[in-house]
Amino acid sequence: MKSERRAFMLRAALAGAALPATIAVRLTPACASSVRPPHRVSGVLAPPRELWITRPEAQESIRAVYWAGGILQTDGYCAINRIYRDLRAGAQRPIAPALLHLNYAMQRAVAGHWSPRPMILLSGFRTPHTNRLVGGVEPNVHFAGEADDYIYPGLSFEENLQLARLFQFGGLGVYPDRGSLHKDLGPARTWVEYGHARAATVR
Ligand SMILES: [Zn+2]
Repeated sequence: MKSERRAFMLRAALAGAALPATIAVRLTPACASSVRPPHRVSGVLAPPRELWITRPEAQESIRAVYWAGGILQTDGYCAINRIYRDLRAGAQRPIAPALLHLNYAMQRAVAGHWSPRPMILLSGFRTPHTNRLVGGVEPNVHFAGEADDYIYPGLSFEENLQLARLFQFGGLGVYPDRGSLHKDLGPARTWVEYGHARAATVR
């Protein structure tokens, strides 16, 4: 992907999506109560934001409008929190809206450059116990609902990696053996992990 094309994609994708850094939303533990009072982004007259997410492990797929008129939409947001749940523990927590806005921007870029398709979600929220079981190396961001492991189908791994770098906000984990990527809202950093052992730090 040429750099000017990537810059165009970024501008196009963000035309209707505020950058995560501009949005500060604090959540309470319960899903429904986290939606009230409304979290508004001043001056935003953006179209409703929908996410298309498939979770193969749970055999679930959703298309949910989680944001409209600058306000979190209860039904859509709760549906997303549910599909992001810890499947082993059967537990969920509110997922950071900034992560969802990042996913929205990425999904727009994928739809514009390739065609609309769901994000394949492999891991979202994790309890500490589940994180130990799966050997997670970035526990805090998964505990906090600020991370996911994912891939876009129909794109090569290299194309997925280019997309991830274009939209990198915080952490970017590259898992070639698993064919997946990790992203989070933590400090900006990149790492490559083969199997379960961290093998190299990119930067
Ligand atoms: Zn992860």
